[in-house]
Amino acid sequence: MTDKSQISPHMLIVCGPSGTGKSTLLGHLLSHRNTCCLSRSTTTRAPRGKEKNGEEYDFVDVETFRQRIANDEFAEYAEVFGNYYGTPHEMIRSTVEEKHMDVLFDIDVQGARQLRAKYPGVWCVLIAPPSFEVLEHRLRSRGTDAPEVIERRLNTAKHELAQTDLFDFTIVNDDLDTACAQICALYDALRLRNR
Ligand code: 5GP
Repeated sequence: MTDKSQISPHMLIVCGPSGTGKSTLLGHLLSHRNTCCLSRSTTTRAPRGKEKNGEEYDFVDVETFRQRIANDEFAEYAEVFGNYYGTPHEMIRSTVEEKHMDVLFDIDVQGARQLRAKYPGVWCVLIAPPSFEVLEHRLRSRGTDAPEVIERRLNTAKHELAQTDLFDFTIVNDDLDTACAQICALYDALRLRNR
């Protein structure tokens, strides 16, 4: 009989432009499944709102980040909207080897490509809007960003959505309840794989 405890934890990258509901779907999955946790990235961007160092991110200055790149501490890193973001090797190792938890990554497409090259068993799901027009409408109507920021997000979104070779799965977030059910179903199916 197959001993499932011998199967190494699973890794799932969740990609998607801002405005697609990626964080909401990740939050839903994390609160409904206790076998996975979210990878914590290191970033040079400043904390926003109630964010605390060591919780949402490890916040460091640019010099520290560059030193960590030079020390080869990142499994992947990228510059996103003018700031560095990276996933430390050690964070993945300790989550998988010590906690035996599956790891979810909320990272951009540049990072997703690097991670897939380093960890061939990692899966990647795109959270897509129903259409580009719907995404544009969502970003403009939430009123949190200046027009030039929205333009930049839309250009990045176009680039991200075009990278179809990168994504093993796509969840179209049209109806939130359906998308929540789909991300749980996808995660459950990945855990049933024999590797
Ligand atoms: P925010 O600043 O809004 O938290 O994140 C901005 C973008 O950076 C999001 O698209 C997020 O997925 C991406 N991101 C967050 N952490 C990482 C990381 O460690 N690596 C990469 N490549 N992207 C990241």
